[in-house]
Amino acid sequence: MAAVPAIDYNAMRDEDFRHQVRSFFETNYPEQLRFLPRRVRMSEISGWWNTLYEKGWIAPNWPHEWGGMGLEAGKMVIFLEEMERHGIARPADQGITQVGPIIMKYGTQAQKDHYLPRTRSGEIIWCQGYSEPNAGSDLANLQTSAVIEGDVFIVNGQKIWTTLAHDSTHIYLLVRTDKEAKKQKGISFLLVDLQTSGITIRPIRNIAGHEEFCEVFFDDVRVPRDVLVGKMNEGWTVAKALLGFERLNIGSPRRPQYALMRLEMLARAKGLFADTGFLDRFIAIKLDLEDLAALYGRYVEQVKRGEPLGQDVSSLKIWAMEAWQRLTELLVEAGAEDGVIEGAHDIAGVEIDFLSPFYYARPATIYGGSSEIQRNILSKYVLELPS
Ligand SMILES: Cc1cc2nc3c(=O)[nH]c(=O)nc-3n(C[C@H](O)[C@H](O)[C@H](O)COP(=O)(O)OP(=O)(O)OC[C@H]3O[C@@H](n4cnc5c(N)ncnc54)[C@H](O)[C@@H]3O)c2cc1C
Repeated sequence: MAAVPAIDYNAMRDEDFRHQVRSFFETNYPEQLRFLPRRVRMSEISGWWNTLYEKGWIAPNWPHEWGGMGLEAGKMVIFLEEMERHGIARPADQGITQVGPIIMKYGTQAQKDHYLPRTRSGEIIWCQGYSEPNAGSDLANLQTSAVIEGDVFIVNGQKIWTTLAHDSTHIYLLVRTDKEAKKQKGISFLLVDLQTSGITIRPIRNIAGHEEFCEVFFDDVRVPRDVLVGKMNEGWTVAKALLGFERLNIGSPRRPQYALMRLEMLARAKGLFADTGFLDRFIAIKLDLEDLAALYGRYVEQVKRGEPLGQDVSSLKIWAMEAWQRLTELLVEAGAEDGVIEGAHDIAGVEIDFLSPFYYARPATIYGGSSEIQRNILSKYVLELPS
């Protein structure tokens, strides 16, 4: 790719930046991939990745030095809002959002030079290998081990729920490197090529019939010692460095607002507003989304002011995910007999898929920290209740 000139987007007026982003998305994003009710596969979205890469927009959060847009928080929020507004699917972008910034902060120069350009171009696609069968909410209980032998680590164990591992070339792993140390203390952070001998990837089919995540098995996998990021046994600090911004993004009201729009279309087409029971529930959920938009707006303003997000942002995730679930439940019910039949249905000339949004919303109260864990955080750090 020819070098894209570094533009100072932060110097633009917010309205001008928003307009530029919006019109680029509207002109270039494939129509058939808008508002997908499932995770998109790389085979479908690699063209869009290349379009963003050519434009110099694939890594909005990265600094210019590494080929990113160098967006400050306020502009970043606008970029993400416009993505959501247009229903742009999220590819396997953990390299851009997670591991790239981690390598920039904790990686060696050799790691930066090797991984960062390839991550941006899409030559390297990353997946996140944190969770294990007995280490989810209690992640520090992870048991996958890495033992040093001469110049290599030997990795043994199993990861699970690894989103899009089968579309990825590399995995970033949390492994136990000291079994004696207290839980968080003996964990290290490794970058592993999924082609390495001894790795088996087994896709898991979810309730909607999609293979979005996988099990990944490590059987005497030998990787060079220079795949360690940061110091030995300090992987927990490395992994925790980046959890802030994601918690805001996950609370965006756009996805449920789109589902609400479909529900409203359906209700009008079928005359459901004449049913006062339905009307009550519709109004309640519409107001829930208004509350969500207001809450989200408050946190956006906080980020724009450059203030870090506190633990109270857990309330945003709970409200966003639980309202989205309630809404998609109502959509299925409103679809009556069609509501439980998969695929798109023609309702008075409008195509509505009832089950896919319902299925898509189900795991939302689990990933990114379950609702129970978010409530624990609120009770401990915000309400300061005794535990
Ligand atoms: C769609 C999806 C994609 C995912 N992608 C990835 C990925 O790419 N990489 C990755 O590493 N992981 C991924 N995960 C895994 C995710 O991080 C875990 O599912 C999550 O951390 C919960 O862990 P668990 O499934 O082991 O459930 P558990 O931790 O076993 O929890 C089971 C239930 O107990 C509750 N619970 C647990 N502890 C407490 C407590 N202390 N107090 C109150 N209630 C509690 C939970 O809320 C939950 O309801 C993904 C999960 C999903 C659903």
